[in-house]
Amino acid sequence: MDSLKVAVVTGASAGIGEATARVLAKAGFTVFVGARRLSRLEALAAEIGGTALPLDVTDTASVEAFAAALPEQVQVLVNNAGGALGLEPIVEFDEKHWLDMYQTNVLGLVRVSRALFGRLEASGAGHVVNLGSIAGLEAYPGGAGYTAVKHGVRAVSETMRLEWLGKPIRVSEIDPGLVETEFSLVRFAGDAERARAVYAGLQPLTAADIAEAVRWVVTLPPHVNIDQLVIKPLAQARAILVHREKTG
Ligand code: NAP
Repeated sequence: MDSLKVAVVTGASAGIGEATARVLAKAGFTVFVGARRLSRLEALAAEIGGTALPLDVTDTASVEAFAAALPEQVQVLVNNAGGALGLEPIVEFDEKHWLDMYQTNVLGLVRVSRALFGRLEASGAGHVVNLGSIAGLEAYPGGAGYTAVKHGVRAVSETMRLEWLGKPIRVSEIDPGLVETEFSLVRFAGDAERARAVYAGLQPLTAADIAEAVRWVVTLPPHVNIDQLVIKPLAQARAILVHREKTG
């Protein structure tokens, strides 16, 4: 692959974003990674020969500064920064959680995409990969804040394909089920026991499983657009319908 191809991964300081940055670097991309925890990003960038840049997708000025530090042409943008906060039922809903999730998962994705649009178009073969979720395809009790934002991501992915029809920019959405990352730790505000219970008795996906899917999608010939890819572990049929082996 042309080693000048540039890939940008948001939320690359952990989990799926970190694994994706590694896999894309190995696939020959020059990788730029962004997130708020810069020291983690710098260690990753040193390992993969990439570039670490501070990024808070909820802050327009931060997104603009991030974009300004990128090359004039960007082939791949992986909009990965995001996640869930809390698991409260609707009648107990935490307004700050909902606002923060919308800021990061939906507005953040749109901010970064808008800021990089010119660079993606200039590349002549741009590709935006949005990290959605099966939470964008179904609902579950306590999940309304997160499912609402991931349904929002799905609407944005589809709108991008409609508005950019005729432009050299592919738009793909990857919708994972259970992936063991820091996702549940963040969702449950650092409660490690509660986070571990999410994956107990089953084999979840790994961040590397999703990274491999991103690699496949972005290295297909430029006329092939994978609109949507739903990836779940074998032990998961729906968001809250999983098969757990008895442990201990
Ligand atoms: P993770 O391990 O918690 O990683 C989340 C990443 O997002 C971190 O690098 C974090 O970096 C970054 N991030 C969060 N807020 C940010 C902000 N304001 N600005 C910039 N970066 C920000 O979670 P993950 O599982 O890898 O999640 C990645 C994506 O996959 C998310 O969109 C998530 O919704 C989606 N997803 C995850 C699962 C799952 O089961 N794990 C399933 C379906 C979809 P900093 O904190 O350093 O900024």
